[in-house]
Amino acid sequence: MAQRRLSQPEPVEPPLRPRLADQPSRFVLLEREVELEYRPQMLEALQRKVNAVAEEARATTPECPCCGQPMSYHDARPVSWLAHWGRLRLSPPRYRCSPCKQERRPLLDLLGVEPGRICGSLARLLGLLAAVAPYELAARLAQLLLGVTISAMGVWRVAQRLGQAAANYSEALSEYHADSRSEGTSAQQAPPAVVLGVDGCTLGMQVRAHRRRRAGTEPLPALPVVEQGHFREVKTGVLLLPGERVETSPGRRSVVRRFLVTCLGDADEIFRRLYAQLRELGWVDPRTVVVIVGDGAEWIWNRATMFVHRCEILDFWHALEHAWTFAHLRYGEDSSQADRWVHQIAEDLRAGKVQDVIAALKRLRPKTEELRASLQSLIGYYSENAGRMRYDEYLRLGYGIGSGAVESAHKQVVHARLRQAGMRWSEAGARRLLALRLLLLNGDWALLDRMRMVSLA
Ligand SMILES: [Zn+2]
Repeated sequence: MAQRRLSQPEPVEPPLRPRLADQPSRFVLLEREVELEYRPQMLEALQRKVNAVAEEARATTPECPCCGQPMSYHDARPVSWLAHWGRLRLSPPRYRCSPCKQERRPLLDLLGVEPGRICGSLARLLGLLAAVAPYELAARLAQLLLGVTISAMGVWRVAQRLGQAAANYSEALSEYHADSRSEGTSAQQAPPAVVLGVDGCTLGMQVRAHRRRRAGTEPLPALPVVEQGHFREVKTGVLLLPGERVETSPGRRSVVRRFLVTCLGDADEIFRRLYAQLRELGWVDPRTVVVIVGDGAEWIWNRATMFVHRCEILDFWHALEHAWTFAHLRYGEDSSQADRWVHQIAEDLRAGKVQDVIAALKRLRPKTEELRASLQSLIGYYSENAGRMRYDEYLRLGYGIGSGAVESAHKQVVHARLRQAGMRWSEAGARRLLALRLLLLNGDWALLDRMRMVSLA
């Protein structure tokens, strides 16, 4: 038998510090070197092109937007703005119409730049970073990705100007389509059915509605009493075509295309936006069935009536959740009996036997008052929604039976950016950021190039 020999403990090796290469990758250095070398040259080239546009525009005198008369030349003070490779400079002529008190610098309009501000593609890229990351992090990303040093506040400012433009556009579009004479995409090829879903959550809001400003020598007015727990509802609506749902792997479905709308508050507003988006897409004509998936919240069904041809579906998982509540009460949490009982209900509901399920529930004779109340509420819920629980039919028609796509979309639009720890929003700030996220998630980011950034004081 081998005997363990007692010996001195082996000396323990100290831990080795992980080693970095002495130098950054040679290639990375080359890339940076070239970028630093050519940036000034790109700025110069850009300045030359801007000058050429200015030269070309010099010959035209603008008309007064009020009286239509040619405006008179006033002056040409130098301005500058910030772009990706540095600062651009120009002395754009200023024209005036003194009777109408109008003033214009048409060259700046033509270029789409604002004196003193971050403009052009840099502004759009900063807006993009702000749409996906908190402002502090977006500023750091700007440094790493674009080589641009900017404060979180600077990113915030750009996001506000862009976001306001995006919000204005989407609000105007929904107002436009509220008028039946609006022109959307032709509904000639409207799909036979479109799935519509809505989800919502609350956003933590800043308590102050307005920043207090000192007016002259007057002291600032007192702050209003702080309301505890100031929240605002934010809603997301999703549109997709049932035919475009694909099963990527067994049990995992995803959609090829989906279109999102969002708004702060108001149930009517989200439905207005959904309708506008349907019109814009040309997805609704008198024969199109609008399939509405809901979790049973009344406000959804109340608004669903605006669609004449509709199919209302109670989200299957919400239907089961109610069964679980009763099963847990009756059989206890974690009981396999509860499992089996709900499983059977799920199978029956999927087979379209909602009336049988209700009849079976009515035959139960629970022993306690609590159980009786819970059962009554379950029976009530199923009876009220029976018309929205013909799951066999929805499956056969390919409509789907769950609101999973809606819930995940909502999380993507709102939670991923606006519901991080400790975040508090101003009404305008949230609205602008949501508008930017929608453009991004709907694949419409390029539209920003055609929007005028809104100058905010
Ligand atoms: Zn005029």
